[in-house]
Amino acid sequence: MSLLDKFIGAKQLKSGLENAGKDPTNVVFDSINSATEGVVDGRVTILAGTNNYLGLTFNPDCVAAGVSALKSDGTGTTGSRMANGSYATHGALEAELADFFQCDQAMVFSTGYAANLGVLSALLGKGDAVLLDSDAHASLYDGCRMSEADVFRFKHNDMQSLEKRLTRLGDRASRCLIVIEGMYSVLGDCAPLAEVVALKERFGAHLLVDEAHSLGVFGPRGCGVAEEQGVLDKVDFIVGTFSKSLGAMGGFCASQHDVLGLFRYVSRPFMFTASPSPSVIATTREALRQLRTRPELKETLWSNARQLYTGLQDLGFELGPQLSPVIAVRCQDRESALFNWNQLLQAGVYVNMMLPPATPGGACFLRCSIGAAHTAEQISTIIEKFAEL
Ligand code: PMP
Repeated sequence: MSLLDKFIGAKQLKSGLENAGKDPTNVVFDSINSATEGVVDGRVTILAGTNNYLGLTFNPDCVAAGVSALKSDGTGTTGSRMANGSYATHGALEAELADFFQCDQAMVFSTGYAANLGVLSALLGKGDAVLLDSDAHASLYDGCRMSEADVFRFKHNDMQSLEKRLTRLGDRASRCLIVIEGMYSVLGDCAPLAEVVALKERFGAHLLVDEAHSLGVFGPRGCGVAEEQGVLDKVDFIVGTFSKSLGAMGGFCASQHDVLGLFRYVSRPFMFTASPSPSVIATTREALRQLRTRPELKETLWSNARQLYTGLQDLGFELGPQLSPVIAVRCQDRESALFNWNQLLQAGVYVNMMLPPATPGGACFLRCSIGAAHTAEQISTIIEKFAEL
């Protein structure tokens, strides 16, 4: 067996996807017309799988902020903050995030993925324990693996399973980090955060919540599921991304613990990668400002989510367990998922194809994500095209 033989499986996967039609992992948009519309193979296509929850990617003020920063601060930072220094706007965004989450500190990373690697690898070491929800995102798994801590999974959103694991840890529970998401990315279901907080307090553990998909979506002020369930101040580390509701790129961690400031000296995914470009920081800051000052965005998002969820439910599709802007349609098997995904794309509707092993329970889903910028007509069209499947 040669070094390169291990790619035989990937090659088979690629040709299997291509034989079924278009390769869902390699869709190319000829152009993007707006937050909700693109062009694929010359066909105008509704974007119903882009996590653009607040629909801010083409917002004129966000675009203007980015253009202005490009002109004043240039195209890139060309290095890490440790080596090249920080721009004033990196610190300004961190202060704004700390204020938003009512935390002492916040820290910006170059992607949401890097934020999870950076926080988990800094926080956890040999001898520590992690209790990880089994449906957690790959970046959380990877961060745990990078840390050398002992990783134990508990059943998704199952408090008995979490309690059992905490009990088994005994004295080590105080050296344990519970790692969960606010709203889960594939099915759009939420963690029972108030119950998780009660358990973590009982056992003296710590808690990290990834609010990547919940920022701007849940909570009276849009902070996420922890705020929605009234336990924002009980979460030790909140992580998230700028790549969804904020329509940019980058990640963050906010915390009451002053050790967060020390991560800058020990977190390799922070120290050894280029810091976010000034234009990215500028659009993120403007999007965060809009998230905080325009509650109507969240209201429109939820009314759009309700229209799609009930429309697909009325057609008899099996959906995720709760109404949310992530609406996953369960498919019978891999073949029907591939076939239906291609049918939708040809009909001008782009959704995400979700196949095992990236899915809960090894099931196949057509995952839609809806945003505040979708129109009622676009959502009716999406429902119509699903009806034709
Ligand atoms: N956490 C979760 C739950 C995610 O779904 C994602 C991306 N889909 C990330 C982290 C990584 O974020 P980014 O794409 O901004 O790196």
